[in-house]
Amino acid sequence: MNFEHFLLDQRIVARIKAIGYTTPTPIQQQAIPRVLEGRDVMGLAQTGTGKTAAFLLPILQRLTKGPLRRVRALIIAPTRELAEQIYQMSRDLSKNTKVRSVSIYGGVSKFSQVSRLRKGLEIVIACPGRLLDLVNDGNIDLSKVEVLVLDEADRMCDMGFLPDIRRIIKLLPAQRQTLFFAATMPRDTRKLADSILNNPVTVQIGKIAPAKTVSHALYPVPAKLKKSLLMAMLQQTATGRVLIFTRTKYRARNLARDLEKRGYRAAALQGNMSQNQRQRAINGFRNGKYDILAATDVASRGIDVSEISHVINYDIPDTVDAYTHRIGRTGRAQRTGEAFTFAGEEDEQIIRDIEKILGKRIEMRRLPDFNYGDFSPENPFQNGHAKAPRKTRSPRKRNHNRSNGGGNRSRRRSH
Ligand code: AMP
Repeated sequence: MNFEHFLLDQRIVARIKAIGYTTPTPIQQQAIPRVLEGRDVMGLAQTGTGKTAAFLLPILQRLTKGPLRRVRALIIAPTRELAEQIYQMSRDLSKNTKVRSVSIYGGVSKFSQVSRLRKGLEIVIACPGRLLDLVNDGNIDLSKVEVLVLDEADRMCDMGFLPDIRRIIKLLPAQRQTLFFAATMPRDTRKLADSILNNPVTVQIGKIAPAKTVSHALYPVPAKLKKSLLMAMLQQTATGRVLIFTRTKYRARNLARDLEKRGYRAAALQGNMSQNQRQRAINGFRNGKYDILAATDVASRGIDVSEISHVINYDIPDTVDAYTHRIGRTGRAQRTGEAFTFAGEEDEQIIRDIEKILGKRIEMRRLPDFNYGDFSPENPFQNGHAKAPRKTRSPRKRNHNRSNGGGNRSRRRSH
């Protein structure tokens, strides 16, 4: 199947060709015809599947007809990075048409966003908080919206945006098309979907599991040896762009500094950085100024940097969902990638949960010529006190911010 099959406006088809897409991805094949028919869609797809174009193309098709210079499509995304990425793709695909879009998010001045809105446009791509701000100031009229997209809806629920989303939905015409995308379906996300979708068709890309093009490996290591293992690994491995995940902002910042000191072109990407600093880090990673990004989960959401060769989970994520999202950043759009996860003896349960979703055991590896001391990477879960009775373990701190099911568990934080 090729893109001609969808009978899209020739100006849009020309842009698809110019960007270099030849074959629609599976989610595009399934979703585009249904969205063009005007149906509500529930898209179960993780990032990296081509879902952005799956909703943008039929929306653009709709907007090439009918009135201009009024907000007819509203796309809501959880993070500025994702909003910006959707905006770039929207601009790219609509270049030959009269359709205009804007990205709206906090942390930057309202001025340019408002002045773009005043000139009149058709697509608003927004994070919930700033959108409500601008609506309250009278700068956005949502009463003519024909299509609503909620992208990464599960993440939005997870981040506490549910009340904002409900407020926004009340401002939209009841008669509209709604497209709902999520990688996972925790209960709150399912409830939201059920309450806003009207007789939806569901399109699902495979099982909700990490991208198949990624090979996974586990590197057992005690916490105190993590940094030296990483350095040795980077020296021994032929890597392209490397995205390293840490559990805290502090650890991301320190790791990026240490890598820089050792001569790597590395930057941090974490929530304490300003929007400008974050964008600089992402742009630098995309254009080759940096080879390595040390990032936290939330800050890295929606990064679209093609050709990431390695994702390294320096700290294993809290949940299976977070693992899937992190790994979604390598192996995007049929490219291959490797996912290395550093695991300590306390991580056995989450590893088993991840393996359940992957449907297979993750290969355990030992880095050759690395001095593990008295730790045995071949038997990681039998080193020291992993089998000790629960009451003798160090106290675990509950993570109250996350509410999704499936593999969530309390974790010890080590700095
Ligand atoms: P997404 O899942 O929307 O974040 O897209 C993941 C990546 O796939 C992005 O870099 C897109 O530019 C790319 N992409 C989307 N559709 C196609 C396609 N039909 N052919 C090749 N690459 C695509």
